[in-house]
Amino acid sequence: MEQKKIVVIGAGVVGTCCALEAVMRGHKVSLIDPRAPGTGTSFGNAGSIAIGSIWPSSTPGLWKQLPKMIIDPKSPVQTRWSTLPQMAPWLARFFLSGRPSRIADISAALAALAQTAMPAHTDLMKQHGIGGIMEPVGWLKVYPNAASFQKSAAERAAMEAAGVNTETLDEDELRQLEPNLHRRFKIGFFQPDNGFVTSPLKLTEAYAEAFCRLGGAIFPEEVRDFTIGADGPSQVITDLGMHDCDMVVLATGAKSQQLARCLGAPVLVQAERGYHANIIRSGESLLRRPTVIGDVGCVIAPMADGYRITTGSELSTPDAPPDFRLLRRHVARAREALPGLDGEVNREWMGRRPATPDSLPVIGRSPRHQNVLLAFGHGHIGLTLSARTGQIIGDLIDGNSPGVDLSPYRPNRF
Ligand SMILES: Cc1cc2nc3c(=O)[nH]c(=O)nc-3n(C[C@H](O)[C@H](O)[C@H](O)COP(=O)(O)OP(=O)(O)OC[C@H]3O[C@@H](n4cnc5c(N)ncnc54)[C@H](O)[C@@H]3O)c2cc1C
Repeated sequence: MEQKKIVVIGAGVVGTCCALEAVMRGHKVSLIDPRAPGTGTSFGNAGSIAIGSIWPSSTPGLWKQLPKMIIDPKSPVQTRWSTLPQMAPWLARFFLSGRPSRIADISAALAALAQTAMPAHTDLMKQHGIGGIMEPVGWLKVYPNAASFQKSAAERAAMEAAGVNTETLDEDELRQLEPNLHRRFKIGFFQPDNGFVTSPLKLTEAYAEAFCRLGGAIFPEEVRDFTIGADGPSQVITDLGMHDCDMVVLATGAKSQQLARCLGAPVLVQAERGYHANIIRSGESLLRRPTVIGDVGCVIAPMADGYRITTGSELSTPDAPPDFRLLRRHVARAREALPGLDGEVNREWMGRRPATPDSLPVIGRSPRHQNVLLAFGHGHIGLTLSARTGQIIGDLIDGNSPGVDLSPYRPNRF
C-alpha cells in the first residue's frame, strides 16, 4: 500500500482514533489541534459505550414543545430566544427529521455503527496494551413509577428491534444491582453490554500515546485554511505554518461546519451543549455504573476522579456563554437520588456535542474533493462510535470497503 501524507484535524476522541488507525496502516500522519488530545468535548462525557443509544434527539411532535424548551427550566431539551435566529436553518431540519417516517431509518443507521462499537474499542485497547480504563458494568436507567417508565417505551422498542440486550428490573432486582439508590425508584432498565470508560480523558490520551509510539506527530496549532490544488487540498494552513498533505481528515467536532464548507461539504452541525459537575468521592463507592435518573434527565457516573453528574441537551450556538443553572438543579436532584452523595462539587464543565439535525454522524468523502474525509457530528455517542469511525476512515484512506453502508452518513445529505 502506498504511504500517504495524512493530516487529521481535531484531536478529540474521534480524530485521535482516525489518526491512530491511519498510522497503524502505515501512513505518515499529523494530528493538529491547539488543545491537548481529549480535552474538548471528549473530556467531559458520561463515559458510556452506549451501544443502545440509537434513538434520535428529534422525535415526533418535539417541535410542539419549542415554547417549553425556551421557558421551562426543567425541559430535558433547552434552548434560548437569543440563539434562535442563528440556529433557524439547523432547527428547521432538526424538527423535520423527527417525522415518524424517519425515526426507524435513523435508529437503524445508528445501530449499524453502535453494534460494533464495543469490539472496535476492545480490539484497539488490546492491540495497544491499554487496560484499566473500561469496565463491563453496563448502563442503568431508573424510574419512580410505571408512568415515568412508560415515557421511554418507543426508545426501548427501537433497542429491541435492533437486538440490543436489555433487562427490565423490578424493585428488588434494582436494589441488588445498586443498593444505595433512593427507595423511591421502583423500576429499572438495564443494558448489561454497555462498557463504562471511567476516565474519558485517559482513554483519548492512551490512544494518542499509541499514535505517537507508532510515529504519528501531534501539532498544537489551529487550522485556518487550505491550499486547494487540482486534486483537492495540498496544504493545511494553520496559525503557525503549513502542512503538506495527500489527504485531509476533518474531525473538529461541533466546530466543523465552517471548515467543512471550505472543503466543499455544506453540512449542518450545531452545538448540543451539555454540562457536568464533578462531586468529590468520600468513603465507600456508592454506585457501580453510570445511572440515568429517568424522571430528572441527568446521569450519575462513578468516574475515577469523582461522581460525574451530566445534563441533557441545550441547543445553542457554540460560543454562547455557559449557563450552569440547570446543572446545579440536577446536582441537587442527584444528591436526593443517591443518599450519601454529599461530597463537594470541585468542577463545573460545559461541552459541545457535535450535533447534526438528524442525529447521524457525518462520515465519508467531501462531495467536492476525493482526498477529504469527514468524521464528525457524533452527537450524544461520539465516545461510543469513535473507534468504529476510526476503522471506517482507515478503510476509506486505503480505498477499502468499510463493511457498512455509509449512505446514511454521507456528507452531502444536507
Ligand atoms: C454531558 C455530555 C455527556 C456525554 N456522554 C456521552 C456518553 O456517555 N457516551 C458517548 O459515547 N458520548 C457521550 N457524549 C458525547 C461525546 O462526548 C461527543 O460526541 C464526543 O466527545 C465528540 O468527540 P469529537 O472528537 O468529535 O469532538 P471534540 O472532543 O470536541 O474534539 C474536537 C477537537 O477539534 C478541535 N478543533 C476545532 N477546531 C479546530 C481547528 N480549526 N483546528 C484544529 N483543531 C480544531 C478542538 O480543539 C477539539 O479538540 C457526551 C457529551 C456531553 C457533552
